[in-house]
Amino acid sequence: MPVAPRIARIALDRPLDRLFDYRIPEGLSLTPGQRVRVPFGRGSTVGLVVDLATTSDVPPARLRAVNEAPESEPLLSPRLLELLRFGARYYHHPLGEALLGALPPALRHGDPLPALTPETLWRITPEGTRALADGLARGRRQQAVLRALEPGHAATALDRATLAAATGLQLAPRELRDYEGRGWLEAITPDPKQPPPPTTSDHDLTPDQRAAVEALTPGTGAPLLLEGVTGSGKTEVYLQMADRVLAGGRAVLFLIPEIALTPQLSTRIQQRFPGQVALLHSGLAEGERLRAWEAARQGQRRIVVGTRSALFTPLPDLGLIIVDEEHDSAFKQQDGFRYNARDLAIKRGQLEQAPVVLGSATPTLESLHAATTGRYAHARLTTRPDGSRPPAVETVDTRVHLPDEGLTAPLLDAMQQTLAAGHQCFLLLNRRGFARVLACDACGWVAECPDCDARLTIHAHNPRAVCHLCGHQEPRPQRCPECGEPLAQRGLGTQRLEQALARHFPTTPLIRLDRDSIRHKGALEAALDRIRQLDAAIVVGTQMLAKGHDFPQVGLVGVIDVDQGLFSVDLRATENTLQLIVQAAGRAGRGSGGGRVLLQTGHPDHPLIRGLDAADYPAMVAPLLEERAAAEMPPHGHLALVRVEAGDAETTHRHAERIATHLRSAATEGLRVLGPAPAPRHRVNRRFREQILLQSTRRNPLHEGLARARHAWQADDLPRGTRIAIDIDPVSLA
Ligand code: ADP
Ligand code: ZN
Ligand code: ZN
Repeated sequence: MPVAPRIARIALDRPLDRLFDYRIPEGLSLTPGQRVRVPFGRGSTVGLVVDLATTSDVPPARLRAVNEAPESEPLLSPRLLELLRFGARYYHHPLGEALLGALPPALRHGDPLPALTPETLWRITPEGTRALADGLARGRRQQAVLRALEPGHAATALDRATLAAATGLQLAPRELRDYEGRGWLEAITPDPKQPPPPTTSDHDLTPDQRAAVEALTPGTGAPLLLEGVTGSGKTEVYLQMADRVLAGGRAVLFLIPEIALTPQLSTRIQQRFPGQVALLHSGLAEGERLRAWEAARQGQRRIVVGTRSALFTPLPDLGLIIVDEEHDSAFKQQDGFRYNARDLAIKRGQLEQAPVVLGSATPTLESLHAATTGRYAHARLTTRPDGSRPPAVETVDTRVHLPDEGLTAPLLDAMQQTLAAGHQCFLLLNRRGFARVLACDACGWVAECPDCDARLTIHAHNPRAVCHLCGHQEPRPQRCPECGEPLAQRGLGTQRLEQALARHFPTTPLIRLDRDSIRHKGALEAALDRIRQLDAAIVVGTQMLAKGHDFPQVGLVGVIDVDQGLFSVDLRATENTLQLIVQAAGRAGRGSGGGRVLLQTGHPDHPLIRGLDAADYPAMVAPLLEERAAAEMPPHGHLALVRVEAGDAETTHRHAERIATHLRSAATEGLRVLGPAPAPRHRVNRRFREQILLQSTRRNPLHEGLARARHAWQADDLPRGTRIAIDIDPVSLA
């Protein structure tokens, strides 16, 4: 007779590479994926069952028993467990942290699962329609709500969250009940098994869009790269794909880089599928996040829209994963479990037999390569629905036309013309602040942070100089501490550019978009609304301006200064700068009439600049791919970084040397170990950093060597305060 497994192997939220064995008490039965509370040290902690066994290496007398299981069913499915096990192995991260980190914080802390209440949907009544037409509904809020629900508008019935998003109002349940009392609205409770039909699209798909939707192969884990020029209607394609998959009874996971920066997209999805969307991102309160997660797990909401950690949401019968703006580095977690949600999405798709769509106008070289070599299917949208293409990029030679505070005469002329025609000018400058640095022209001294390898920056309305790395602030020095000469402000940031523009165009509305200007809640939405309402206006901003916004009035995009990014030594700086230019260019000429894109550069003849073509990204980055092939860099090689950090330079270096030695002795044929070398930012916040780069043309030698070396160095004694981090497929070498 087989022995029933009475041992559970349990993952705990501890930075240790092992599972913990516990005895399963009589009367309790456990399955992998289930949550448990177990004794640990003198207290107790939350864990997840990973495996069951009949025997343990722990002697029976020392084997402790599981305290309880808060739920009788597993929270994570076998496939999700498998995904996280794979992830922990691939990123060389402790399984317990990866697994527990996949749960909403409230569950990790031991809170119970919430009870779900069915969501109410709101519909306008004929009386409500009349009240709107007759002016009976007079309040601004009343009108906004009724208008959002008018027949023929977005949808027939919306849930409160979607209504709030659609109207931009904070809507309490009471307010909606009040309108119901007046007879304007009626509440309906949908049956989760019979969700309301999606509202239909306003558009007929173009032939290219239809071909992209057809390229999807439901029921397989096949990845598809959807490469479409900016404004080509990728979102519409996603929505139609989602529609199909939902109609087939399966769920959809929609990953986006950042919710806060692109509020329009999540609203659009919510409006299209009212009452079916669970939003998941770190900006939510713990309770909200838990309810959204649970609604997805129970199949009450069958579309999850979320940022990278939403990848691990349990969704019964997952049928499609969409990764929008797949090139965005926000998909890579930059500390702890350093996974890339885009790459793990591909793995989840395989495990769940669900197709994965990676969408972008500027795909990563990795994804492009996978598509051109046939590993991914490839669908292209080369024109916009109205047949137009992104405008050509014109260059302004800054050696001939010297910029004054960042602005050249040809750019100023083009701005005049654009504004005179009633269109908007977008100016991209990827640097915040007022003047970048305080420098002494006499002796070359530059104000630096005392704790980091970084220069202090100056912001308007802040009398202090600020370090962007650690937040250190100090009074602005007036004179050079070395030679006593007065200091000059050098360099250009968005705030200073804004002031210069105000002098050139004193009567034109001017809007600035950067992290400093949108710090307050609602500030970004307000700025985006204002841009949409204005005709002629100037918008200055950082890369934030290049994110997926759809503004019809942009006649000119000016790129102030990207030379530094284009010719940087960092592996991806060039690629990222090209992506930024193309994304920014994509904001121009969407409405009536074409648009212009002017790029100010001191290198107009450089092949990369001459090759700039926002209408054909793959052709434009072909030379970069060749360079990567020659250097055996991604996608033609694989990289990992091992970072070592400690409180003083000596200790850091000694340790980095040791780890490099472990790596060299564990390395087999095909793995190169480079370094240790001081990190590009050697000192940050009074800590020192060195790094070792691993490079290999095949994945296996890299992962095997790293696993062996890690095992060896874990046996070493680390001095207190020393930290080692492994970064697989790093997005930046800095
Ligand atoms: P992308 O996501 O590729 O940047 P969007 O999906 O935002 O593009 O579409 C850009 C604009 O084109 C939007 O205003 C959208 O409503 C419109 N659009 C999309 N598909 C069509 C279509 N088939 N016919 C007409 N307009 C469309
Ligand atoms: Zn000086
Ligand atoms: Zn600092």
